[in-house]
Amino acid sequence: MQIRKPLLIIGTAVLIVACATNPFTGKKTMALVPNSQLFPTSFAQYNEFLNENKVIKGTKDAEMITRVGQRIAVAAERWLNANGHQSYLKDYKWEYNLVEDKTVNAWCMPGGKIVFYTGILPIAKSETGVAAIMGHEVAHALANHGQQRMSAGMLQQLGAVAGNVAIKDEEKRNVFNQAYGVGSTVGVMLPFSRNHETEADQIGLYLMAVAGYNPDEAAELWKRMKANSGGQAPPEFLSTHPSNDTRISNLIKWAPRAKEEAKKFGITSFRD
Ligand SMILES: [Zn+2]
Repeated sequence: MQIRKPLLIIGTAVLIVACATNPFTGKKTMALVPNSQLFPTSFAQYNEFLNENKVIKGTKDAEMITRVGQRIAVAAERWLNANGHQSYLKDYKWEYNLVEDKTVNAWCMPGGKIVFYTGILPIAKSETGVAAIMGHEVAHALANHGQQRMSAGMLQQLGAVAGNVAIKDEEKRNVFNQAYGVGSTVGVMLPFSRNHETEADQIGLYLMAVAGYNPDEAAELWKRMKANSGGQAPPEFLSTHPSNDTRISNLIKWAPRAKEEAKKFGITSFRD
């Protein structure tokens, strides 16, 4: 017992040092691997995924994904600048790709690397529907949910050396792959926790509104998602909580606040 106590103290000290406050959530979160180290791993894995899958270029749909992605990223930048976080996005390298795959899914890897599968487009239905999904995915990246999952993975796997942030690249890649489910099942992102999903829903709603898309449509999107799934949510949204119904009622409740937020940025009407 006496041997374990000092270890516990060291562990706690490491955690305090490795926590960062996120401007979007105001929460202190675990950040054992700084973004400057995490992002290059994420970017490499993203490129590998694109190489192994059919990326659609030059179609109306592909252009729409890029357009919506850019607008959501600009909205995030405007929001951060207005709230005194000018340098927050410095390591982000936004990229938006449409991939030929009938799976109903979309995801964003750390650092702003986004994939939409063609299978989700009929449910998105419109550009505003795409914006609701894009806002949600980008929100996961901005709130550093991936980093937190990665940190948790490191603690699990490398618990004994949690203080040693300078782990080898190969170890980092292994933890990343495990945290994301890439490598084992290509392109399937593991579900986020209920709290992370709720945070992404709320931040995403604000982002879409500031980007000029009507936040009322987010609830409509989730109604279609529910109708389509027959009780089964698509992979990125696999977590059973929040349930579709909670999610829909939250989005309806938050939409007026998102519109108020957009007003601060001069957005008083929304795109069709
Ligand atoms: Zn999500």
